[in-house]
Amino acid sequence: MAEKNAKIDTADLRQAGRHRIVAILLGPPGSGKGTQARELVETFEVPHISTGDILRSNVAQGSELGEQARSYMESGELVPDGLIVDIIADRIGEPDATAGFLLDGFPRTIAQAVALEEMLHRRELALDAVVLIDVEDDELLRRITGRWLCRECGRDYNAAQSGSVPEQCPACGGEIYQREDDREETVRNRLEVYRAQTAPLVEYYGGKGLLVKIDGHGEPEEVSRRMIAVLEKI
Ligand code: ADP
Ligand code: ZN
Repeated sequence: MAEKNAKIDTADLRQAGRHRIVAILLGPPGSGKGTQARELVETFEVPHISTGDILRSNVAQGSELGEQARSYMESGELVPDGLIVDIIADRIGEPDATAGFLLDGFPRTIAQAVALEEMLHRRELALDAVVLIDVEDDELLRRITGRWLCRECGRDYNAAQSGSVPEQCPACGGEIYQREDDREETVRNRLEVYRAQTAPLVEYYGGKGLLVKIDGHGEPEEVSRRMIAVLEKI
């Protein structure tokens, strides 16, 4: 099945009992975690849980959580573990998450990873895989600084890749905007924060035999095919 856009038949997956999956998408900012998660959701029928999306919608709504998280996000620092762990505990307790989920942007620290293990244990779920999306730094900067997002559905569009940016989201008609923290200076800090606080998770999950690394360069569809090929074997 080397065809472009080849999707796994979800009926087959269900038969094989493999539509249940608990996976983490790990990778630096700009590696394409959100894009890939949105693709995978169609194949695996589990929700995509993005802490970044949840935080941004709280900031937009002006909720208390949004107020607490805002300054960290704007400077590219991590929001404190306690806040994030509460968000995830609530979210994975929702009915659509009983058969599994794809985590995007969580965990980002060892402490978050340990908290996740406890939450999964309590729900009698087990982590199936941690997929590390590997992309070079130059490419990350290029992608992020040219990136525009939809305020409604979170999809992103890249000016550097497509030459222009749509006025409205082609997928849902939502407003298109650029993230505050996508400025070059902040992006550099986010990359440093990733190296210092999140990259240790590579070794952590590697040691547990859960880590799979995939090449994140190339077209999104190409990366998806690599990812599905890997997850299919789990
Ligand atoms: P990125 O493109 O950097 O992967 P995200 O959308 O995942 O961005 O996250 C945006 C910001 O939200 C981060 O820079 C951080 O401030 C905050 N954030 C998201 N997830 C977490 C987390 N698990 N722990 C701490 N902070 C987080
Ligand atoms: Zn949209």
